[in-house]
Amino acid sequence: MNIHEYQAKELLAKFGAPVPAGFAAFSVDEAVAAAGKLPGPLYVVKAQIHAGGRGKGKFKELGPDAKGGVRLAKSADEVRAAATDMLGNTLVTIQTGAAGKQVNRLYITDGADIASEFYLALLVDRGTGRVAFVVSTEGGMDIEEVAHSTPEKIHTFAVDPATGFMPHHGRSVAAALNLTGDLAKQAAQVAGALYAAFLGTDAAQIEINPLALTADNQLLVLDAKVGFDGNALFRHKDLMELRDETEEDPAELEASKYDLAYIKLDGDIGCMVNGAGLAMATMDIIKLNGMFPANFLDVGGGATKEKVTAAFKIILSDPAVKGILVNIFGGIMRCDIIADGIVAAAKEVNLSVPLVVRLEGTNVQQGKDILAASGLPIVSADDLGDAAQKIVAQVKAVG
Ligand code: GDP
Ligand code: MG
Repeated sequence: MNIHEYQAKELLAKFGAPVPAGFAAFSVDEAVAAAGKLPGPLYVVKAQIHAGGRGKGKFKELGPDAKGGVRLAKSADEVRAAATDMLGNTLVTIQTGAAGKQVNRLYITDGADIASEFYLALLVDRGTGRVAFVVSTEGGMDIEEVAHSTPEKIHTFAVDPATGFMPHHGRSVAAALNLTGDLAKQAAQVAGALYAAFLGTDAAQIEINPLALTADNQLLVLDAKVGFDGNALFRHKDLMELRDETEEDPAELEASKYDLAYIKLDGDIGCMVNGAGLAMATMDIIKLNGMFPANFLDVGGGATKEKVTAAFKIILSDPAVKGILVNIFGGIMRCDIIADGIVAAAKEVNLSVPLVVRLEGTNVQQGKDILAASGLPIVSADDLGDAAQKIVAQVKAVG
């Protein structure tokens, strides 16, 4: 689960990270009122969407010459003008995709006088299974370019969970940023605060870009992107309240209500599978047969009729889907129950695309009999290869 920049900064501040003062705003008037509570003379008006690259982003409605989603303002009038430009409009950045994201919230912050911009992130290094720091002097808006062309400018090191964050980790961050004296102390303090926040919230990612060095020699968290490990969220009821469902893919949101693991992909074949491993294998074998999966969908071990119906509806809500492949191993859940669910769901949603079903496991014959007796144009398959060949052939036959 990801959260907005303003939420991330409020959270990081609680762990002792230095963030500029700021207020969220949901309307132009609130934005102007927020500026009134800040000292000035410089304000920053920032579009709040779950995507980076806002500074260089473009608003669909404003034309190519208009400024992006992070704007400096020198007066209440400039704050008003920036807020009016942004609210309700669609911001397209390198991270949003071409469709962009509608801006419904703003963050008005105290403007900083920036001397340089650093990069500081924490993530889980899956290679070592440890929380790792990623540090670079080359922060700002082009970190992807730095990683691509000059990877030697990015320093990475992991923290041993047995010791936790140690003073030498702080010194490593400071050294990577070429900071000495008081600034080295500040860097170590920021790094320690971010590490505490990472562990304390079961974060998956904390990315500070930029970590700014101001003209008066302060390190400041100017941008913060924070995401949490969804599997640990049950431990953090307070964090769950930060969820902004309007930022999520509608189909993925619907799937999460039924506890279905669904991820939208770009292909034509909708997949409904139980078990993540089987889902991966199903996607692979569709590709092997020359087409691409429209989604990853794991209905889980205890798929009920309700879950199967919900899964069908979600798959069919994707206009790209030209055919559906159901691949279920009836272990805990018997094949006849699954077949009942498939038939009920197919009738309820008025199935309009070819459907191939491969069942295996407990009561498989009863399951196949139910599908055959349903009167629906459901094609049964015997194994994974057969299933993939059949759905691809069916979709190609329809054209
Ligand atoms: P992003 O484009 O989505 O990553 O948004 P950021 O919050 O990182 O802002 C983009 C850029 O705007 C930063 O890299 C800074 O150069 C600039 N910026 C952000 N806040 C301030 C500020 O308080 N003062 C100044 N002078 N520039 C800022
Ligand atoms: Mg940034």
